[in-house]
Amino acid sequence: MTPFLYERAADRGMALSLGARAGADFLGGGTNLVDLMRETIARPTLLVDVTGLSRDIEEIENGGLKIGAGVKNTAVATDRRIRERFPLLAQAILAGASAQIRNMATVGGNILQRTRCAYFYDDAARCNKREPGTGCDAIEGFNRNHAILGASSSCVATHPSDMCVALAGLDASVTIEGPAGAREIALTELHRLPGETPDVETEVRHGELITSVILRPNAFARRSRCRKVRDRTSYAFALVSVAAGLELEGDRVKDVRLALGGVAHKPWRAHAAEAAIRGRAATEAVFREAAEAELASAKGLRDNSFKINLAKRVIVDSLLNLASKETAR
Ligand SMILES: Cc1cc2nc3c(=O)[nH]c(=O)nc-3n(C[C@H](O)[C@H](O)[C@H](O)COP(=O)(O)OP(=O)(O)OC[C@H]3O[C@@H](n4cnc5c(N)ncnc54)[C@H](O)[C@@H]3O)c2cc1C
Ligand code: SF4
Repeated sequence: MTPFLYERAADRGMALSLGARAGADFLGGGTNLVDLMRETIARPTLLVDVTGLSRDIEEIENGGLKIGAGVKNTAVATDRRIRERFPLLAQAILAGASAQIRNMATVGGNILQRTRCAYFYDDAARCNKREPGTGCDAIEGFNRNHAILGASSSCVATHPSDMCVALAGLDASVTIEGPAGAREIALTELHRLPGETPDVETEVRHGELITSVILRPNAFARRSRCRKVRDRTSYAFALVSVAAGLELEGDRVKDVRLALGGVAHKPWRAHAAEAAIRGRAATEAVFREAAEAELASAKGLRDNSFKINLAKRVIVDSLLNLASKETAR
């Protein structure tokens, strides 16, 4: 591990002023960053601990909630208001990692966790994300866990967060503060596709601090579900996950939200599928058509082509389950 300084931020001003220094990184629960430092993949010279900041879940207008970036993942998943109004989020968090990791991990750190591509963690491998311009060993290598949507010839990695898939489906936004002031950005716009610059993963710039996640009210709480398919039932990242919400009017779909995990460099909001479902009958045929539309541009690699059919099946199964009368709470 490269030597570094450690400072615990007493308030937001202190965090921003220390975080702006060259070589500084913010520290949440450390469950991802410290691993990266041990492997010398990340080499911050100053760690600014922000776990003492933004630790509340607050009511906002019309039943929405503002979740501080320092709130632990377990505290989000067990909050009564989250479980009642945004059950999708609680389900997604509980599908991730282990209880011990969720007790340490923060909301801000979960959003900015790095890919689990094994070549990224192996400094003997070529990786454009770790060292721009060196190549990508995953494209011709073992790529079972890699992307089928939105990938590029520079990088085929996936974003690992389960929580972010639910946030994408819930139209959540993220508040960011930095030297130039505060701004709010949709979660779906925060992570980037790899393109030619897979090393630039998000819209968050050096020295900017995530301070909260905003959840606005929606009509999906009664019929929403997160489904994660993985190689083991615990302690494994998603091969494919689906966060889905349905709002029915009789047998027709008034509105729908659908986001996919494990398939792209960012949480993948399934806009094509949503458009194919909205306003139509809640039938298997419509859901199949929607899944086909969403995966039409999917491209498999040597080991991950199975994900294309898997994603379609999980989409259809999740929506059918939500449409069934027994599902409504
Ligand atoms: C064995 C194992 C299994 C796992 N399985 C899963 C899984 O199945 N599903 C899943 O979703 N996740 C999984 N994870 C990942 C885990 O969820 C993340 O490591 C965790 O959410 C990161 O949160 P943290 O607070 O520890 O972040 P840290 O490691 O502290 O930080 C991560 C990044 O975020 C930055 N950061 C932290 N807070 C802020 C802030 N407020 N503003 C700006 N930048 C910030 C840091 O600088 C760093 O770059 C697993 C992890 C491990 C070790
Ligand atoms: S897929 Fe991306 S993270 Fe993985 S080796 Fe290639 S460039 Fe690196």
